[in-house]
Amino acid sequence: MTSQGTPFRASRSADGRPEAPGDWTADQFRDAGHATIEWIAQYLETVGDSPVVPSCRPGEIEAKLPSFAPEQSEDFERILQDLDKIVEPGMTHWNHPGFLAYFGITSSSPGILAEMVAAAFNPNGMLWKTSPVATELELKMLAWLRELSALPEDWFGFLLDTASMGTFLALAAARESIPGLNVRERGLAGGPGLCVYASDQAHLSVEKAVIALGLGRDGFRAIESDDQFKMRPDRLAEAIKHDRRDGRVPCAVVGTVGTTSTTSVDPIPEIAKICVRESIWLHVDAAYAGSAALLSSKRHHFLGCEQADSYVFNPHKWLFVPIDATAFYTKHPDVLHRAFCLVPDYLRSEDGDLNLMDYGLQMGRRFRALKLWWVLRAFGAEGLRERISYHCELATQFAGWIGKSERFELAAPVPFSTVCLQAVWPGKGEREVDDCNEELAARVTKTGRAFLATTKLRGRTVIRVAIGNIGTDGARMKEVFEILEREHDQLACSEATPNPGT
Ligand SMILES: *Cc1c(COP(=O)(O)O)cnc(C)c1O
Repeated sequence: MTSQGTPFRASRSADGRPEAPGDWTADQFRDAGHATIEWIAQYLETVGDSPVVPSCRPGEIEAKLPSFAPEQSEDFERILQDLDKIVEPGMTHWNHPGFLAYFGITSSSPGILAEMVAAAFNPNGMLWKTSPVATELELKMLAWLRELSALPEDWFGFLLDTASMGTFLALAAARESIPGLNVRERGLAGGPGLCVYASDQAHLSVEKAVIALGLGRDGFRAIESDDQFKMRPDRLAEAIKHDRRDGRVPCAVVGTVGTTSTTSVDPIPEIAKICVRESIWLHVDAAYAGSAALLSSKRHHFLGCEQADSYVFNPHKWLFVPIDATAFYTKHPDVLHRAFCLVPDYLRSEDGDLNLMDYGLQMGRRFRALKLWWVLRAFGAEGLRERISYHCELATQFAGWIGKSERFELAAPVPFSTVCLQAVWPGKGEREVDDCNEELAARVTKTGRAFLATTKLRGRTVIRVAIGNIGTDGARMKEVFEILEREHDQLACSEATPNPGT
């Protein structure tokens, strides 16, 4: 890049025109592009040797950045160097094979390249005519995913940024579908109280949607889950009955396939039966586990989903597509359309055009379908199934080691690729054991070899080992288990957690 000089200059020629208008030249782009690809390739090759979580302190990265935006054009070489100096040292490496916290998200190579190409075209797919291929490829990819997951053929699907947005749209449609309410025109004031039901293990996005839709947290019902963390249908039926008796109107039930803490699966067939009987919208949140529907060996977890009115899952979670890409499906696109369609004069199009902006909140829509297309084609369904299935095998094996060890206990069943465990120390009290589990996860993370997070189950601290990174393998999992054992034993003999409360 330096050989060609600074790409942009503020100076003007004699007739007053900018000397170098427009973007980089094609050659400047090539040079910078090749250097960037080289940087990415090397990063992906070596990321597994870096600590998963950086050791920086709050504010440290910000302090490295200049206080003001540069006035003069900077050399791309220097811009690229700051990836090593500033960005990498402050990065939590989600694309690391030792990333076992939360739910892993991986961007695979074809997905990374497709993101670049999507940015090169940079279409806005708000209307069909603002980029026909953006809309048509998106609808086709959603049809492919639906077919691969054995979901009903008549579902209409499109892409969103997050599952949280999917659940919001689902509940907005559910609210719109209630006869005689007409929230779109009249709002909610003066109407009956609406209720939304989900298990006490459901994701926070359900309650957030309830807040945003104006139903109020008073309208949210956290239904008790059983000893396997699945929603109790009997409790759901009771809650609905109770609310109807009080003059409230049940709006929607959200069932989860793969809850966030333990990946438990709600009994969707029983829940669906209640929803049909009571004429209540059923939304299924399969944000993480939805990718496992590609495996016929895991299909039994998705029984009953065919009765859902809407369904959401995240290819950006476990299908190796870079964030963000959420697949949203509904049996009732007409209701969603009724809830959200507004056509101003400046956006009018031909009758019969399918304009995806009419089905939700956002107007502008990025070209997300390309990365799905490339990932699906580059791996093939077979390649994706193999990788997801391997992750499930790794989890089963890891759970086996935990189950056999005297140092640990399994805290929940393992239906997919996530293992919840508790370390045990005979003689320590509950509070102390909880603190030690927290400390244990932190100590494993401090080794840099893996990142483990914790959750609470029935008030007790639990360590989650969530396998989902495309690079995670058996050797890494064995190493993580050995580190857990070693750190467990060191915690047993240290006074690491003074606990004034007990
Ligand atoms: C991750 C997750 C979500 C939220 O996903 P976003 O795409 O980040 O909004 C919702 N529900 C479940 C069950 C999840 O695991």
